[in-house]
Amino acid sequence: MNRIAFIGLGNMGAPMALNLAKAGHALVVYDLLPAGVAQLTTAGAQSAGSAKEAVAGADIVITMLPASQHVEGLYLGEDLLAHIDPKALVIDCSTIAPEAARKVAAAAQARGISMLDAPVSGGTAGAAAGTLTFIVGGDAGALARGRPVLEQMGRNVFHAGPAGSGQVAKICNNMLLGVLMAGTAEALALGVANGLDPKVLSEIIAKSSGRNWATEVYNPWPGVMDNVPASRGYAGGFGTDLMLKDLGLASEAAVATRSSTPLGALARNLYAMHSAGGHGKLDFSSIVRLFKGGD
Ligand code: NAD
Repeated sequence: MNRIAFIGLGNMGAPMALNLAKAGHALVVYDLLPAGVAQLTTAGAQSAGSAKEAVAGADIVITMLPASQHVEGLYLGEDLLAHIDPKALVIDCSTIAPEAARKVAAAAQARGISMLDAPVSGGTAGAAAGTLTFIVGGDAGALARGRPVLEQMGRNVFHAGPAGSGQVAKICNNMLLGVLMAGTAEALALGVANGLDPKVLSEIIAKSSGRNWATEVYNPWPGVMDNVPASRGYAGGFGTDLMLKDLGLASEAAVATRSSTPLGALARNLYAMHSAGGHGKLDFSSIVRLFKGGD
């Protein structure tokens, strides 16, 4: 059993932290908003009045925040690292820029603190079921220390390489996910416009060569699948603005290495248009509305 500080209890952080509470860890949690905190205190976690209070005496500090600015702002801007025991292990599960992950890890190391970047894949359902994939960057020894706790929140733990590598791998995965979701939405809208039932078409694609994660577990068309954001007005899930952020990170990584990512660039523009249309807070599978019109 560890004393774990968990900061950032949104769509992903709250279910991840709940799995750690169920596993019997002593959890101290903090978020700027009350909803996630309430879920955790009901499960027996202690609520802290600030991030600094949460990390005091923690063996492991886990953060699950929206973007680079939040992670840099907390660890460096608010100087949270100064309040963390040098013997503690810090694991940031947010998806952020690789340079930001390296910068914060280097600042942690300067204080003798081990830090991993460990972004996740698997969505909110994977977070709730404890079946996430962790994509880890950092020192192998630090990962060996963190692995038992990561395995209580996920099924697969990959070591991508040194600090920042987890973020690079995650960005590549999400660029592909953004492209596949937009492509799935486009194909479904085409089929429906030509007289097909979206459920029947989805079943066909799910067993044919066009199948992918969206057709298998995260269908974007309303009413085709239960328990996905499309069937609850695109509430919860993975926000369009978070996907837009990840496609922006992919684009920055491409510019930095003079790589060509034409499909990633097109997908980024599609999600940007969708966000500008007022859908930024909806789950990213709502991109289907660009093709089928609003509902
Ligand atoms: P979210 O917006 O639902 O949750 C983020 C939480 O962080 C919010 O509750 C917010 O109040 C809190 N927060 C922000 N700044 C804070 C601070 N300084 N101190 C304390 N709390 C703070 O986002 P999410 O969907 O949970 O995603 C979190 C990260 O995981 C993002 O980087 C996202 O790209 C990534 N991700 C999300 C999914 C998904 O399906 N939602 C899947 C994989 C990865």
